Amino acid sequence: MTLTVIALGSNLDNPPEQLKEASRRLSRLTGLTDLTLSRVYTSPPMGPQDQPAFYNAIATCNYADEPSCLLTELQGIEHAMGRVKLRLWGERRIDLDIIQMGERSIKETDLVIPHPGISGRLFVVKPMIDLLGRDHKVPGLADLGTLRDELMHHPISLCEDIDINGAILA
Ligand code: AMP
Repeated sequence: MTLTVIALGSNLDNPPEQLKEASRRLSRLTGLTDLTLSRVYTSPPMGPQDQPAFYNAIATCNYADEPSCLLTELQGIEHAMGRVKLRLWGERRIDLDIIQMGERSIKETDLVIPHPGISGRLFVVKPMIDLLGRDHKVPGLADLGTLRDELMHHPISLCEDIDINGAILA
């Protein structure tokens, strides 16, 4: 079993509902247990600015299989939910990324773990702190509290009225 962190993002077609649907699908994956969802945050897009704001959350879980299997599963969920890649860093119905798998370090053409974007993305670091605490460490990076302090100038808002954790408990 490996403590695994997955990032969820959406900015099309009712993003909170897309995050809930992806959460439900994650909860049904073979070999994945103890799924917990963070609170949801919204922030301006990182790439092209002529697209809607993003809604992001983090999932923690235990995963029993290989990282490559999880990547295949996540891509299967993205595909089943109708994700279409329109442009780099562009709008998308659902985006699922593997952020961390325990102490694993992988640098392959199609899979990099820990995810290389963590230290530049408050919408990943902040919900990770919610679930794992500010002292949690991703291999090769400073603790989450330090990463957050370095990103405090990034605009991000908590969506207090959205509960995606409830979607998998219902
Ligand atoms: P994206 O458009 O952000 O969903 O990126 C998808 C591409 O990133 C796919 O071709 C994946 O093979 C690749 N990729 C590399 N590392 C990761 C990771 N840690 N999690 C998810 N996708 C990854």
